[in-house]
Amino acid sequence: MAKVKGLKCKECGTEYPVEPIHVCEFCFGPLEIVYDYQEIKKNISKEKIEKGPKSLWRYVDLLPVDNPTVGLSAGFTPLIKAENLGKALGLNNLYIKDDSVNHPTLSFKDRVVAVALSKAKEFGFDTAACASTGNLANSVAAHAASAGMKCYVFIPSNLETNKIIGSLVFNPVVVAVDGNYDDVNRLSSEIANEFGWAFVNINVRPFYSEGSKTLAFEVAEQLGWKIPDTVVAPLASGSLYTKIWKGFNELIEVGLVEGKPPRMLGAQAEGCSPIYQALKEGRDFIKPVKPNTIAKSIAIGNPADGPYAVKVAKESGGDIQIATDQEIIEGIKLLAKTEGIFTETAGGTTIAVLKKFAEAGVFDKDEVVVAYITGNGYKTMEVLEGKLEKPIHIKPSLVEFKEKVINKNQ
Ligand SMILES: *Cc1c(COP(=O)(O)O)cnc(C)c1O
Ligand SMILES: [Zn+2]
Repeated sequence: MAKVKGLKCKECGTEYPVEPIHVCEFCFGPLEIVYDYQEIKKNISKEKIEKGPKSLWRYVDLLPVDNPTVGLSAGFTPLIKAENLGKALGLNNLYIKDDSVNHPTLSFKDRVVAVALSKAKEFGFDTAACASTGNLANSVAAHAASAGMKCYVFIPSNLETNKIIGSLVFNPVVVAVDGNYDDVNRLSSEIANEFGWAFVNINVRPFYSEGSKTLAFEVAEQLGWKIPDTVVAPLASGSLYTKIWKGFNELIEVGLVEGKPPRMLGAQAEGCSPIYQALKEGRDFIKPVKPNTIAKSIAIGNPADGPYAVKVAKESGGDIQIATDQEIIEGIKLLAKTEGIFTETAGGTTIAVLKKFAEAGVFDKDEVVVAYITGNGYKTMEVLEGKLEKPIHIKPSLVEFKEKVINKNQ
C-alpha cells in the first residue's frame, strides 16, 4: 500500500530503506525516491487533487511525506498569462509561473523546505540546517521557527543584505562563511556527518528535491491538465530543473495528463555557467567554476545535479543559455515593466534567456511556453541601484509640479 518503496542510487541502482541518507555507500552516487506508481495510480485523481488544500500538499500522493506538518501554505502560486511580455517577444501563449510570491519567504525554496522539514519531523529531528545561496536560508529559518525546531543556516559571507536580514529575523544561528557557496557546501557536508541535524539539502536532499516537482504539477493543473510545449527555468545545482522534468513525466506516468513532457530550456548566469558549458562542449561531467555574477542565488560552481541536468536538456530536446549581469538587470526590468512582476536576479536570468531564445527563433509563435520566476526582487534591490530612473524631486508646489514633471514628460 505504501506509495514510496525506498531509496535508490541514481548511478548503480543499489536500493536503500527510507532514511535520512543521500549518497550511495558503494559508488557515492546520489540517492532518489522510488515510488510505486501502480499503487499511486489507484489512489490519485484530478477530482481528488482539485478538492485538496490550496497548497503544494494537494499533490501529497506524489511526494515522499505521509503526514505534512510543516509549510502547510507553500506552493499554489499564480500562473499568469503574460500578454505584454508575450507581445514583446512574439509569443502568443507565454505564461509566468510566479513563485516570487510563494509563502512564507517569497521564493520557490518554500516548496522544497516544506517537504524536507515535514519529512524531517517524521524522522524525529529537532534541528534543521542548510547550506544556502540565500533563499534557502530564509525559508529554512522561517519554517524551523514555525515548526519549533532549532536552526542553523550556513551562507557565503558576501550575500545580499536583505537575504541575510531575511534569515536573521527568524532567529536561527546564521553562520556566514568566508568563501563562496561551494566552500559553504563542503563545510556543511562535514558538519552534517558529525551532528545529527536535518540538513535539508544534504542528508535530507532526496526528500527536499522532490518538492520542486510541484512546480510541474501546478502548471499542468493551472493549464487545465495540460503540459506546456516548452518551459524555461534557472539552474543552480540543477535540482529544480531536473525535478520539473520529473514532475511532468510522473503526471503522464500516473495518467493525469496526456501527451509528451515539455522541451526543457535552462538559464544560467554567464559568470557561473558550468552546466551550460558541459552541454555546449558535449561533456557528461561538470568542470567546476568559480562564480562571479550578481545572480548569487544561482551561483553554484560545482552543481550536484549538473550531469543530470545536461541529460534532461538533451533528452527533452531542450537547451541551456546564459545571460550577462547586464542582461540579467535588463531581464528584471523587462518583466517589471511588461507584467508588473518584480523578480530577483535569478528571475532576471530566466527572462534574459527567454528573450535570447525568442530572438534566436527557437519558438513557434503559438506554442505554450512557461517561464519559472523563482524569487522576489525585494531581496536583491541593491543590484538596481543606479540602474533606474531617479525620482523627480519637487517642492510641495503645483507650479513646480507643472514645470518639472508635466512639462518634462510631455
Ligand atoms: C535555489 C534557487 C534556484 C535553483 O536552485 P537549484 O539548486 O537549481 O534547484 C533558482 N532560483 C532561485 C531564486 C533560487 O533561490
Ligand atoms: Zn551507487
